[in-house]
Amino acid sequence: MTFKELNIIEPVLEALIKEGYDTPTPIQEQAIPFLLNGRDVLGCAQTGTGKTAAFSIPIIQKLVSDKLNSNSKKDKTKIKALILTPTRELASQIGDSFSKYGAFTSLKHTVVFGGVSQKAQTNALKKGVDILVATPGRLLDLAGQGYINFSNIDFFVLDEADRMLDMGFINDIEKIIKKIPAQRQTLLFSATMPTQITSLAESLLDNPVRVEVTPVSSTVDTIDQYLYFAKKADKGSLLMDILNDKFVESALIFSRTKHGADKLSKNLSNAGINADSIHGNKSQSAREKSLSNFKKKKTRVLVATDIAARGIDISQISHVINYDLPEDPETYVHRIGRTGRAGYDGTALSFCDVSEIGLLKSIQKLIGREIPVISEHEYNCEECAVKMTRLRKSIASPKSAKRDVENGGNSDQGKKYSGSKGRKGKKARGQFWQKGKRKSA
Ligand code: AMP
Repeated sequence: MTFKELNIIEPVLEALIKEGYDTPTPIQEQAIPFLLNGRDVLGCAQTGTGKTAAFSIPIIQKLVSDKLNSNSKKDKTKIKALILTPTRELASQIGDSFSKYGAFTSLKHTVVFGGVSQKAQTNALKKGVDILVATPGRLLDLAGQGYINFSNIDFFVLDEADRMLDMGFINDIEKIIKKIPAQRQTLLFSATMPTQITSLAESLLDNPVRVEVTPVSSTVDTIDQYLYFAKKADKGSLLMDILNDKFVESALIFSRTKHGADKLSKNLSNAGINADSIHGNKSQSAREKSLSNFKKKKTRVLVATDIAARGIDISQISHVINYDLPEDPETYVHRIGRTGRAGYDGTALSFCDVSEIGLLKSIQKLIGREIPVISEHEYNCEECAVKMTRLRKSIASPKSAKRDVENGGNSDQGKKYSGSKGRKGKKARGQFWQKGKRKSA
């Protein structure tokens, strides 16, 4: 399947060629034809699957043809597509996607989010835009001041809907929905489909087509996942040891708290490791700078909290490290989805102390497999391993049992372990970490 076979128009095709996209990703292949046909879509897809292009390409294409068919000059400056997204970073990235895919069209778009002065945003809105990408709070704020005209919206996208609800945006979303016309094409994307999202989808979408690429429980195949049992007090030294290995080209490290992220990044910097942190207490410009430095590989290690890191689109992070395990197992899937993006291999390493065994159990239940344990390191916590062994029987899920049968009784864990047996110390770990390197074509 090619983009041409999906009937993508010339100016968009040209932009996709410029971006180096040869073939549509599965979510693009599934969603684009329905969206071009005017259907509502409920997309179950994680970031990293190409979902932004899956909705922005057909929106651009339909707006271009609507514009060609419209005689009214006035219509040309009204908001016709609204994309709601939970975070500033994600909003900027979606804005960048519209810039890229719409580069050879005359469509105008802008991005509005909080935490920065509204002047540039209101100036852009006054000039008129076809596409508006927004976070809910700033959108309502600007609407309250009379800068937003919702009455011409034909396309409404709710992106990362599960995250929106997690972040407490449900009331804002409901207020926004009341303002936009009932007659519209609606797209809802979510990495997970809890009951709340299913109900929201039922109330928002009209006879939607459901497209699904990677169920949240099946973590991306290209990511190698490993677990380290370590005492809480040893996690810092373990991390330092890992980061001293040159195979860790770039690492996104997850910390549960903002304070923890700052402390960790400071400790790493003091130890001579090129590190920075990103979290909600930092100003928008500081966050953008940290992100940009990390993308340009000026910073090797970025310590982040979940909310700040959600949607970060950096295609070549070799390693994701869970310094703390997340409270919500689905967050584990989102976190490790930051590596292994766009055809790259990736490695996800998770640290687990004895108080986190319950969280580990929930993660393993969700992903339907045991994460292979690396025990050959200085800080291995026997107590954790013993506690985990006691729980192991209750973790085995039908899914992992099935894979065991398919593998002739050798689980993933067995395979990885046999590869590391007999190796000691850093070299042994290095063998695993090499997996973060670029896949050969
Ligand atoms: P997303 O899931 O929208 O965050 O996209 C993940 C990454 O995949 C982004 O860096 C996109 O630029 C890239 N991408 C999207 N579609 C394609 C495609 N068809 N071919 C190659 N890369 C793509």
